[in-house]
Amino acid sequence: MKNFFRVALSLGALAGLILLERKRPLRLERESKLRRNGRNLVVASLGALTAQLVEAPVVRPLSRFVERRRFGLLKQLRLPRPLEIIAAVLLMDYTLYVWHILTHRVPFLWRFHAVHHVDLDLDASTALRFHFGELAVSVPYRAAQIALIGVDAEALSYWQMFLSLSILFHHSNVRLPHKFEDALSWFLVTPRMHGIHHSNEPAEANTNWSSGLALWDHIHRTFRLHKPQEEICIGVKGIDTEERVRLPEILTQPFRDVPEVRAFLRQPEV
Ligand SMILES: [Zn+2]
Repeated sequence: MKNFFRVALSLGALAGLILLERKRPLRLERESKLRRNGRNLVVASLGALTAQLVEAPVVRPLSRFVERRRFGLLKQLRLPRPLEIIAAVLLMDYTLYVWHILTHRVPFLWRFHAVHHVDLDLDASTALRFHFGELAVSVPYRAAQIALIGVDAEALSYWQMFLSLSILFHHSNVRLPHKFEDALSWFLVTPRMHGIHHSNEPAEANTNWSSGLALWDHIHRTFRLHKPQEEICIGVKGIDTEERVRLPEILTQPFRDVPEVRAFLRQPEV
């Protein structure tokens, strides 16, 4: 799948979600939308630059190597092509579920992932707001996923497309009809599901780890949907003022000892 098509589709989805967020908001927002979105876009730009400079030079040649040498599980299985692509997307999605748990369990990884979680509100712009350090430290894991599963360039681009659209969707602050969302959450991660994962209550944050298909949360019994969104406080407990989440604070956050971030990791599960 061509890169420009992927970018165009993601931008179209983002524009559509921003319109829906204005028409049908799911949660009340605490910060000024303009300031937050501007800040998230700066974090996103640094992330996109890091992806180009650090991730792409590893991932692209690796997926071509997988293709050339028939390297990895799926290339050894020699499945029919459509099945191989579906299996690649499923296995990339499942191993990302595992990675997401690791980013909340391993202190070094949580330092970076916490930047995504300290956002005081949750909307489509949060989907773009990953610290550049998180993108950089995930490269060895991504490389291992591609090499061990045996994901070639085409399969990789399908997974990336699916993931981009899913991440934009489930971070969005869009109120879907309850029944529709109940049904959808059997298959895909939905805004209410992910809102619970962004709760500042650790017992709630330690649920809904999936990033694409909700299947993994259902299988591992980490799925949660029925928590009224108005009762959820988005963020990391103790970091609840705008001063704490300004651009210089969040960019330097992984490199400082922030007691609230450390405490959130160690909170016992209820
Ligand atoms: Zn998370």
